[in-house]
Amino acid sequence: MSGTIIVGAGQAGLQVAVALRQGGYRKPVILLGDERHTPYERPPLSKEFLAGKRTAAQLTLRKPDFYSSQGIDLRTGVRVLSLDRSAGRVHLADGSHLAYERLVWAAGGRARRLSCPGADAAGLHYIRTIDDVAALSDALAGGMKRVVLVGGGYIGLETAAVLRGLGHDVTVLEAQDHLLARVTAPPISDFYRDIHRAEGVSIRLGTALSGLRAVAGRINGVVLADSEVLAADIVIAGIGITPNIEPLAEAGIDCPNGVRVDATCTSNDPAILAVGDCALFPSPYTDRPVRLESVPNAMEQARIAAATICGTPAPSPSVPWFWSNQYDLRLQSAGLNMGWDQIEMIGNPAERKFALRYFREGRLISADCINMPAEFAQMKKQIRE
Ligand SMILES: Cc1cc2nc3c(=O)[nH]c(=O)nc-3n(C[C@H](O)[C@H](O)[C@H](O)COP(=O)(O)OP(=O)(O)OC[C@H]3O[C@@H](n4cnc5c(N)ncnc54)[C@H](O)[C@@H]3O)c2cc1C
Repeated sequence: MSGTIIVGAGQAGLQVAVALRQGGYRKPVILLGDERHTPYERPPLSKEFLAGKRTAAQLTLRKPDFYSSQGIDLRTGVRVLSLDRSAGRVHLADGSHLAYERLVWAAGGRARRLSCPGADAAGLHYIRTIDDVAALSDALAGGMKRVVLVGGGYIGLETAAVLRGLGHDVTVLEAQDHLLARVTAPPISDFYRDIHRAEGVSIRLGTALSGLRAVAGRINGVVLADSEVLAADIVIAGIGITPNIEPLAEAGIDCPNGVRVDATCTSNDPAILAVGDCALFPSPYTDRPVRLESVPNAMEQARIAAATICGTPAPSPSVPWFWSNQYDLRLQSAGLNMGWDQIEMIGNPAERKFALRYFREGRLISADCINMPAEFAQMKKQIRE
């Protein structure tokens, strides 16, 4: 009896398996993941795990016996290479295949790679997996290092905060004129710029990288677009992710920038669903499909997909939200701020406790709250209403 195969044993894939069992699904559930670890939390990778405050074992989402107790056949170190939709099969890297009745694609994304000259040198790191961060921590050991972070997004900035705390010399390069340019308005990016500078991070805005300089195959500097060279022992690229969608795209599934799914998380093949970082979903909170990269989104879509498979009522999509921790600052964002035409500040950035509300045509669509958890909950509710 072929049941459901879930490809990707991350936050979303695991939650699909859990929600299927909670929804009374009795057929086989196989959870395939190409990492060697059992499913784990990614957010601490650029926070407590990098800081050495949590171990890899403490990131594990469920204990090993959970899987057998729930009848979830977890297989790690297993990569799906392709699928044969007409036969209802996935083909694995070891040459074997597995049959599915329903396939849930929960393959997330991989860190986008730098493609500049020198990008093959030792000393270039990424932050997506436990193994990435373990390798980075090894490279950081043994005294102060000069670290250049490429990309001033949340992951780059969280990493900068942790590395400053560990006593490293940190420079952040951002090609745009603002940090977090894709996701926030200038008052928030200016606030983080000032905080990081006060902590001793060198923030270089409007600064593009043209290459990495290496000696004997090891990075010793980064070359900027204007030919300036910054000395560096370690370069970390935090320039976003590429969704892992190639096997589906090759099998004819509609995948513009993520697997296009409907409100039930179903793709253009009714047997194939997609959830999490790789899914392009029609959020009711914006007028175009979005691919969101957050744990709450992964959890919610997983529950929707499981309900679709079980034939039970799906939870209605809640307000998208996200968090980021840097130094003593806890940012919580609710809603999607695309297309805002007015912003309003509440509180005082100088007190490290304030919020920015985003409006479109007079309607509250989004809010970024810093150290204001109660206000965040309230604004999230207002956005929903
Ligand atoms: C450093 C870092 C910090 C973050 N911080 C936050 C935060 O503070 N708040 C927040 O909300 N979100 C945060 N996120 C984002 C959040 O972790 C992701 O949105 C979430 O993990 C997505 O889960 P997912 O299951 O969709 O994808 P993933 O976690 O990427 O899991 C997909 C899994 O599928 C595997 N896979 C891919 N292709 C195949 C294949 N062909 N065969 C088998 N397996 C495959 C991948 O290796 C991976 O293990 C952070 C992410 C990172 C990397």
